[in-house]
Amino acid sequence: MAAKPFASSADLAQKQQTLEVLDDGVYALTAEGDPNVGAVEGEDFLVCFEALATPTAAREWLAVLREHTDKPIRYLVLSHYHAVRVLGASAFGADVIIAHDKTRELVAERGLQDWESEFARMPRLAKDAGSVPGLTWPTLTFSDSVTIHLGGDRGELVLRHLGRGHTEGDLVAWLPRQRILFAGDLVEAEAALYTGDAFHREWAGPTLDRVAALGAHTLVGGRGAVTRGRDAVASAIGQTRHFLTVMLREVGAVHGRGGTLKEAFEATHAALVDRYGRWPIFEHCLPFDVSRLWDELSGVERPVIWTAERDRAVWAELQG
Ligand SMILES: [Zn+2]
Repeated sequence: MAAKPFASSADLAQKQQTLEVLDDGVYALTAEGDPNVGAVEGEDFLVCFEALATPTAAREWLAVLREHTDKPIRYLVLSHYHAVRVLGASAFGADVIIAHDKTRELVAERGLQDWESEFARMPRLAKDAGSVPGLTWPTLTFSDSVTIHLGGDRGELVLRHLGRGHTEGDLVAWLPRQRILFAGDLVEAEAALYTGDAFHREWAGPTLDRVAALGAHTLVGGRGAVTRGRDAVASAIGQTRHFLTVMLREVGAVHGRGGTLKEAFEATHAALVDRYGRWPIFEHCLPFDVSRLWDELSGVERPVIWTAERDRAVWAELQG
């Protein structure tokens, strides 16, 4: 059998983007498993959620958004530090770029390596890669919660850190009155999970418990379609938890008996592939996911920095 192409380097087919108006002034742009973005109107300003991978990609999203509103962008909210979520930020011209305290620290610590790693893993998302002017630096950070008052009768947008999960510094954006949740990569809807920078045990336990406890009726995950209705939201959260739980069980069993990383990868792949193998980025993510969980179970507290070289080495070991 031929070796699998590295990560998503062979995934070149453009995805269909869909703009959905979830409530008055609440927008989500989904893209068949590519990273989702959103926006929320205040009375006289806009809050944008996530920035895509490059300014060129972001400008295409803003052109769609501008068909609905011409309010100025006051806030750009970034759910976490990953390059394909943040490096388009300069296109927004936002007054304030908001993220979690840890996200800013992670940009400083590993932003450059992550940029190189992610653009090589999925070059299709790096549309006009030369348009990125540099790293994206949040200008307002917080540890637990920040509330943006939207004005008029629009209610408020609450940004919350619900614990470690997909990264060390994930935030969610919650509209309590409309019961709409932008969950970032803490929840995916029919897209495989990327857990290469994750804290699996906390994510699968208390962090997802807190996501569920918000009681969202509409959920926009990091990738995949908008989830509508309480039951569908519960099932998207449950699917995310199931993926993590199977990983913990399979990698944990091999780790516990003194097996190898390669054996853990094969056991996890076999346990997940029937249910998740057709979902976007499953094959791409799994080697990085299992590698990080192996480290976590070995007592490596913080994720090892992914570099383009380390990506290739892990890929060759597990998918080669
Ligand atoms: Zn991410």
